[in-house]
Amino acid sequence: IVSREWHRDNSIINVGDVAIGGDQVQVIGGPCSVETQEQMDSAAQHVSDAGCRLMRGGAFKPRTSPYTFQGNGEEGLKMFRKAADKHNLRIVTELMDARMLDTFLEYDVDVIQIGTRSMQNFELLKEVGRINKPVILKRGMSATVSEWLMAAEYIAAGGNHNIIFCERGIRTFETAYRNVMDVTCIPVLKKETHLPVIVDPSHAGGKAWMVPALARAAVAAGADGLLVETHPNPCEAWCDADQALNPEEFRDLMGSLQGIAAVI
Ligand code: PEP
Ligand code: MN
Repeated sequence: IVSREWHRDNSIINVGDVAIGGDQVQVIGGPCSVETQEQMDSAAQHVSDAGCRLMRGGAFKPRTSPYTFQGNGEEGLKMFRKAADKHNLRIVTELMDARMLDTFLEYDVDVIQIGTRSMQNFELLKEVGRINKPVILKRGMSATVSEWLMAAEYIAAGGNHNIIFCERGIRTFETAYRNVMDVTCIPVLKKETHLPVIVDPSHAGGKAWMVPALARAAVAAGADGLLVETHPNPCEAWCDADQALNPEEFRDLMGSLQGIAAVI
């Protein structure tokens, strides 16, 4: 179903009145995690001021250590919804456990993110396949393109064709940066699938100063959008502080992308 052999033209995924996969590159900005109402209000303001229509933020966090901040859970969804609604932003947030799906629907989460660690959680994929919300399917950190496409089939097979692929960097022998942003997968996916492809340069590089260059490379290679971590005060971020752009850096990035493609 996700293959171009099945559907020749590019599919546009509509998130309310925002189109992903159309003529404009959509940038989804926001913090790694939902921390406080103040932090989310402030983030929603700067993300919206920079021109974004979509905002990211995790309420359920897949942390490597069980002893670090795990997210604010349902309370986080509430804070996120409230902050985003004030600025008419659509929200993107990660679902780790199918048991939380009803809660996600209750808060009217606009786009469900499936994280890198869940790409092959087939039962979770089947559950989001049963609803018709747009889903961002991140690439497993060691997944091949064909495994990734098959993971998307699990969602599509249930009837939900609103899938957006997200490259977020893969594991290699290199340790100088968090992951290797696989630019090559962008043209490959655009050839193999009719669905939109976005890129997360933040989790790829792992350092804020790398993010603008990676973001520009992704857009130049044909990405339909970006997922970028930005925080009102990166030094104080509870999660992924090193890779978050501050509001000024985020605004500058948005400006520099305009020279490459039509960016929202
Ligand atoms: C995230 O985007 O918040 C995240 C946890 O990313 P990934 O699944 O790519 O590690
Ligand atoms: Mn993060």
